[in-house]
Amino acid sequence: MLTDSPPRKANRAGFLESDRMRTLNLPQDGCWLTCAKSIESAMTDSADVRRTCAEFLTATSEFYRTPTCGVRVLAARPLRVREQWTSELFGDYSPEAMLIRVWMRTAVRREVTSFGTFLSTLCHEFCHHLDFQRFGFPDSWHTRGFYERAAALYHHARGTPPKRLFWAPVPGGRWRIDWPRTNRGW
Ligand SMILES: [Zn+2]
Repeated sequence: MLTDSPPRKANRAGFLESDRMRTLNLPQDGCWLTCAKSIESAMTDSADVRRTCAEFLTATSEFYRTPTCGVRVLAARPLRVREQWTSELFGDYSPEAMLIRVWMRTAVRREVTSFGTFLSTLCHEFCHHLDFQRFGFPDSWHTRGFYERAAALYHHARGTPPKRLFWAPVPGGRWRIDWPRTNRGW
């Protein structure tokens, strides 16, 4: 995980605010865990995956009082990825359409995405939705705060203990996760 470079002038304040916001409010109940477990047991059937992902996103959108974000589940990554979409290895998000797309297979080796990676992608893309619809950022940058918010959401939904993330500076004002320290926990 590598952060984006800070924007030069315009939007810099938003970028710094996103970077500072290291956590999210999370519900007290296990509702998202139940939703995530339904996605896990649906992983072999794309129609079921879509339905269970939509349920998950309805629950998270409701909790954060944002418009519900749509979801499309694709078999494999589209060959041409639209420029307006923020794109990851296993998913993307369109702020205009408020739509997440996730795919079940890797583009090259056609391997089925693991459930952990799939859920983590869904949470990551939903955090882009939150940046625009809840926090009102003009853009959704991959800041340290962004990755930490996505991780908080993921661990809550997965029922796993959140890990403290340690960052190491990279030239150009960027940061990467220091995995040895993160795994060690200090
Ligand atoms: Zn992203």
